[in-house]
Amino acid sequence: MSCRSHVQLLRLLNQCGPLSRAELIRMSGLSKGAVSMVTADLLARGLIETRDTVYGGGRPSTRLGIAADSAFFVGISLADRPVMVLGDLHGMILDRYDIELPGQVMEIGPHVRRLIARVAPEGSRQAQRLRGIGLAVSGLVDEQSGLCVRSTLTGWENAPVGPLVTQACGLPAYVENDANALTVAQYRFGPMREAASFSLISVGQGIGCGHMFGGELFRGFRGGAGEIAHATAEPGGLPCLCGKTGCLDTVASMAALSHLATRAGLPGDLEPLEQLAAQGNLGAVELLHRAGSALGLMIAQMVQIMDPQHVLVVREGGGLEGLFARAMRQAAEGNIMPQPAPRPRIMTHDVTADSWAFGAASVAADRSLFREF
Ligand SMILES: [Zn+2]
Repeated sequence: MSCRSHVQLLRLLNQCGPLSRAELIRMSGLSKGAVSMVTADLLARGLIETRDTVYGGGRPSTRLGIAADSAFFVGISLADRPVMVLGDLHGMILDRYDIELPGQVMEIGPHVRRLIARVAPEGSRQAQRLRGIGLAVSGLVDEQSGLCVRSTLTGWENAPVGPLVTQACGLPAYVENDANALTVAQYRFGPMREAASFSLISVGQGIGCGHMFGGELFRGFRGGAGEIAHATAEPGGLPCLCGKTGCLDTVASMAALSHLATRAGLPGDLEPLEQLAAQGNLGAVELLHRAGSALGLMIAQMVQIMDPQHVLVVREGGGLEGLFARAMRQAAEGNIMPQPAPRPRIMTHDVTADSWAFGAASVAADRSLFREF
């Protein structure tokens, strides 16, 4: 019995919901014997369960589905507002906490062990079925070794976050860039479930980006694929934290918008700026239009280079329905070559502070069940 068949059937059930054995045979291309064996094994492990019986033309068949509480995953976002969640296999957040980060990276192992005791107390069903821990970090990570290569937010450099957490907690720990973690969550449990390819762009204080192509995160040679935040949007523009000038982050991020708005005597947040723009305030209109257009133009360049099926733009707390988003959409759609048709749909989606932590939990689920078994 190969692990590959387990992964294949779990992915089908995750993508489609409950399926009969006949459907699994047809959709997987596996033999009847292999599907019988693998489903029996997954049932014995409690990862899938029998659902309803379907009465069709032939013999009634029982449908099988993923058992939500057969495995749990902890996700931790090491962000501005760090959050920890407990997720299940249906992609539900069962528990969440605002948390503190440890003062020193070397303390992260025992720190996470203490945190986990809150969502999965010793002896509880959650603790017994806890299968992995995901950690989402802004910055560059080496997902293979669990190393946080560089994170401006935490100040960590070459920090062995994954190994420290694994050692302290006795569970596999997976470290991922935060935009990539969010991308995995959208692919595994969200609106992009099993999409052939999509690019995700997160608009926040900084701009993040992840590419999912053929079920794999596209990382590039050095793990820097998707760093559109530091692609040049305005040659010779404002200095960026990365050392360059005119990066997209200096034009279209919420930090840049806030900086420019405050300097112009306008409110520093997107929502009040949008309100002012809707009332005809020319300063607000100009700022939002400039930022949205710069992001849209970058999306168009990205589409020309990567050709994703979909583009999903997300922002924590929403707010992507005003002038900023309209200018973004207009610039993107106006600068993507009309052929080959159809062009990708540029969709927007609201996320919350918990979404990043859930992204981390999704990474743990993805790596421990949906890629390897
Ligand atoms: Zn930069």
